[in-house]
Parts: sequence; C-alpha cells; structure tokens
Amino acid sequence: MSDTLRFKRVLIANRGEIALRIQRACRQLGLETVAVYSEADADSRHVHEADVALCIGPAAAARSYLDPDGLLLAARMTGATAIHPGYGFLSENADFADAVEAAGLTFIGPTGASIRMMGDKITAKQAMRDANVPCVPGSDGPLPAAMEDVHAVARQVGFPVIVKASGGGGGRGMRVVERAEDLTQAVALTAKEAQQAFGNPTLYLERFMQKPRHIEIQVLCDTHGTALWLGARDCSLQRRHQKVLEEASPPGIAPETIAEIGARCAQACRRIGYRGAGTFEFLYEDGVFAFIEMNTRVQVEHPITEEITGVDIVAEQLRIAQGEALRIRQEDIRLRGHAIECRLNAEDPFTFVPSPGTITRWDLPGGPGIRVDTHVVSGYTVQPYYDSLIGKVIGYGASRAEAIARLRTALAEMRVEGVATNIALHQDLLADPHFQRGGVDIHYLERWLAERT
Ligand code: ADP
Repeated sequence: MSDTLRFKRVLIANRGEIALRIQRACRQLGLETVAVYSEADADSRHVHEADVALCIGPAAAARSYLDPDGLLLAARMTGATAIHPGYGFLSENADFADAVEAAGLTFIGPTGASIRMMGDKITAKQAMRDANVPCVPGSDGPLPAAMEDVHAVARQVGFPVIVKASGGGGGRGMRVVERAEDLTQAVALTAKEAQQAFGNPTLYLERFMQKPRHIEIQVLCDTHGTALWLGARDCSLQRRHQKVLEEASPPGIAPETIAEIGARCAQACRRIGYRGAGTFEFLYEDGVFAFIEMNTRVQVEHPITEEITGVDIVAEQLRIAQGEALRIRQEDIRLRGHAIECRLNAEDPFTFVPSPGTITRWDLPGGPGIRVDTHVVSGYTVQPYYDSLIGKVIGYGASRAEAIARLRTALAEMRVEGVATNIALHQDLLADPHFQRGGVDIHYLERWLAERT
C-alpha cells in the first residue's frame, strides 16, 4: 500500500472469530486495529492483540455491538478512520454505513445505497432481473392489495408458492402455501408477522422450489469498475436455514455453468456500481439457477473460496476501501482443488441445545490442507449472549475425496473439553454416503436428522 492511505487505523465492529480474521488481515497490510468489546468479551484474543481496545458496553448486543452511536464515538476516541463491520450485527445496516461515511470515516463495505437496495428483497430482485440475473419466478414486485389479484398471481406462478416479506431475513417472515384455499390466510398471517418483526408488511411471492441446492457466487468489486467472481460455494447443508457445512466448488455442476452465472453476477455488480465483497445466493434445481438474495458483506464461509482461489478476501476488502484497484483479473482466477468448511458450534451435536461455558481443553488439528479459524483458546468462556460459533475447520485437497479425508482426520484429532460441540455431527456427515456422493438438497440435513431419532 502507498503512503496515500485513506486510513491507517481500523475499528473492528465485531467479535469472535471474524474479529480476529479481520485483525490478521489488517496486520498483514500494516494497518493498526481497534478492538471494541462488550463486558462479556473482555477476555477475547483479538482484544488482547489489538493496538487499542475499548469496552463499548454491556453484554447485550443492542447496547454494544449493535449501538451505532457507541461505535462512532469509539472510532472518534481512538482515532480510527475506518470501520470493518464483519458479518451479522450492523454489517448490513444501510443507515449505519451512511452514518459512518457522514462522520467522515470509511465504511469497509458497499455504499449505504447498495445495502439498502439489497436489503429489500423486492428491489433486490428487480435490480437482478434488470441485470439479467435469473430469479425465482414470482410476483415480480409487491403483492397486489386485492386478494383476488393475489390469487391470480399465485395461479400464474403455480402452487406450491412461498409468501415472503420484502424486509425479511434470517429465514424469518416466509410461509409455504401448498393449496389455493390456504393463500388468503397465509398472506394475512405473514403480513402481520412481517410488520411485527421488520416493521414492514410488504410481501411478495415466489414459486416454492421442492428440492433445490443452495449455491452462491462470491464477488469482489473495486471502485474503478472492476468486478470479479470468485467461483461458487455449495451451502445446501442447513438446519433451520442455518448453514452447517459448506464446500467449494459445488460438486457435480459443470464449471461452464458456474462460469456463466458468475459472469452475470459480475456484470450485475458493474451495472449497480457495487463495491467490496458480496455474495449472490441462488437456489439451483434441475440445472437452473434462481436468485434469492444478495449478502452485502463478508460471509462466514468465505475461507473455502480463499482456499480454492488463493485470494485473501478480507485483505481485498481493505485494499478496495483504501481506493486501490484490484490487481487480479478474472483470467488470473483459477479454481483449484476442493475445500470444505465445518462450522464448530458450542452445542449438543444432535439436540442442538447451546452449551455455553469454559473450554478447559482445546487441542487443534494440523497437517497439510487444514486451516482453523477460531478466536478460542484453552480457558476461553463461551458466552450465552451471542451465537455459538466457536470456530471453523477448513479442509483443502486436490480432490473432494482428499478434502474429506483430511477433514475427517483433523476432526478426529480435536480434543475439546468443558463445552459440548457439534464435532460428532460433522464426523457423521462426512462419513455419510449421500454426502460423499455430493449434491444433496437443502432439506437433506433435516431429513437425515429426523431419521436418526
Ligand atoms: P433469508 O434472508 O431470511 O435468509 P432467503 O430468501 O435467503 O431468506 O431464504 C432463506 C431460505 O428459505 C432459502 O435458503 C431456502 O431454504 C428457503 N427458500 C427461500 N425461497 C425459496 C423458494 N422460492 N423455494 C424454496 N425454498 C425457498
């Protein structure tokens, strides 16, 4: 980086493994870091290692990690002139992005306008349709006010349909409707829930796809008109819409098919003037991609893309925010080998009951192709206030079989005491013949879990 840096000190507005991940990227680029933490997180690894650390409030996220004014004040007090939001918390809050920039600081992410457009699923789909990104067939806009018109739309789309809140997120605010006679009630209920949960009753509807896979495209865009796509990830193994294990590239989908959709995503980014890292999420069924939403932030599963492309996504986010042009070109991006990520949670592996507490033993695996992203050290206390992610074990191999073999060996080497973890679930999944064949759909994990009990 040159000495005409926009910022030299970055405030990391997050916690846990992603805070440490961002801190490492900052360090490697010679940037100073400010760690902000809640009272519950005082003893976190990135807090100890930061150039400056500041407590911003009590454990409750609403009064610490979700408090925009507190974060801006912390930046002012510590001389940080850029803010990296990580994922979750305020990372997809357009008003926060605007407030950061209005305060004269750099938001390490897209513009507030881009976040706002993608945060509303109706405007997001509209923008994608205009940019020739294929979308799930549906109402192409908000549902009409008159129920008879809604019925006409649903008939045209074809049952089953899924009624969704335009302001929804986190798998909430949607309802599958199998039969026309249930539509009126489903619309009324979903609108009410959407109003309560998101303050916005606007709904749209889509065809409900029966056995899709969740496939997503990672993009990276600078402020000089370059937009790249970095391959695809398969995140079909989900429970209650939460991803459990992800892999790149998606098994069994032709590279040309992925290249085609990837190029469209990059083109859409150029069209809307997108900046930074982002992910286009698709449902994929019978060879067809259908856009569902865009995430305007770095994702938990970004390391598998880093493994198969050799691109450091977080470092690129920082460089883009400095105003630098991307140095890599699309033709430089080669998708090599296969990577799989297991999300480690402090929870019972089969009942999923969270298991906060102090980790008394934490022996990590190693060897070729194994990467562990975690903020946990022995003696660390998993707090009950936040999500239960305690780390990610990522296995890379020249082939998918090699990645699986390395991961299975790595998980068998891990010794964790003091809290329950879902390592046993991952072990069983990696040994499952259907998973090993590749290409299971988004309902597979829940069916598989139901059959075990
Ligand atoms: P959220 O923002 O709440 O995550 P999404 O629109 O991404 O909402 O949808 C979340 C999940 O709901 C998807 O990953 C998929 O499992 C399911 N889903 C959403 N839309 C459809 C659809 N049209 N057909 C089938 N499943 C869907």
